[in-house]
Amino acid sequence: MKELKTFFSTIKQGIIGIVFPDICICCGQEALQHGHHICPFCLEKRFEYSNAENTASTSDVILPEAVQMQYALWNFDKGGLLQNLMHHLKYERLTGIGHQLGKALARCVKSNTLVQPDVLKHESLLIPVPLHYLKFRKRGFNQAFSIAKGIKDVLSIPICSIDTVRRTKYTQSQTGFSLQKRINNMSNAFSVAHPNRIKGKTLIIVDDVFTTGATSFELAKTLNEAGASPIFIWTIAQA
Ligand SMILES: [Zn+2]
Repeated sequence: MKELKTFFSTIKQGIIGIVFPDICICCGQEALQHGHHICPFCLEKRFEYSNAENTASTSDVILPEAVQMQYALWNFDKGGLLQNLMHHLKYERLTGIGHQLGKALARCVKSNTLVQPDVLKHESLLIPVPLHYLKFRKRGFNQAFSIAKGIKDVLSIPICSIDTVRRTKYTQSQTGFSLQKRINNMSNAFSVAHPNRIKGKTLIIVDDVFTTGATSFELAKTLNEAGASPIFIWTIAQA
């Protein structure tokens, strides 16, 4: 009986392997570790790392007062493999992609003393940028939350309860918007439902891509007004 079970299990795994081969969604290389979606080369060597020499920000964007530091793991490659990877992360419902990327980001933060702020010394919380509930329903998951889970696994920083901060404004995709239009679009987009959970705490806003900062800066402002400080922004890529 046991042998029969093993036999069917092997066949099942074989079929799954044919239908969903363990290939890197980024470069197509086969034979990944089961449950992984990105190969070690793409995770460690394929993309250009951001310049973390500047301790305040890895981008050229001027930070608002509420934000102590902005850090992105990689520089965006418009039309390239990273853009493709970010698309998979957002729309493929494969939460394991975000988890792997979050772990890669956390490992870099851990090994780089310049970007390792006081977050590890204080009581800190990860805040994945919330999605509006209609968008969440449509997409089925929040990619920022998957990234945060990866960070948590490496740095042991807890994720703030998801009902703490809400996205109260439904916004269309901001692609192609001017900076001013993005800022207007995001104005009053978030609200803090439980300020007691974040008051006086160090917060790390987690998202997939940092572009102009319109989204994460608006969230930082809302969190800061609710009493949170200092606030950091960590993303996988920056445009
Ligand atoms: Zn790869």
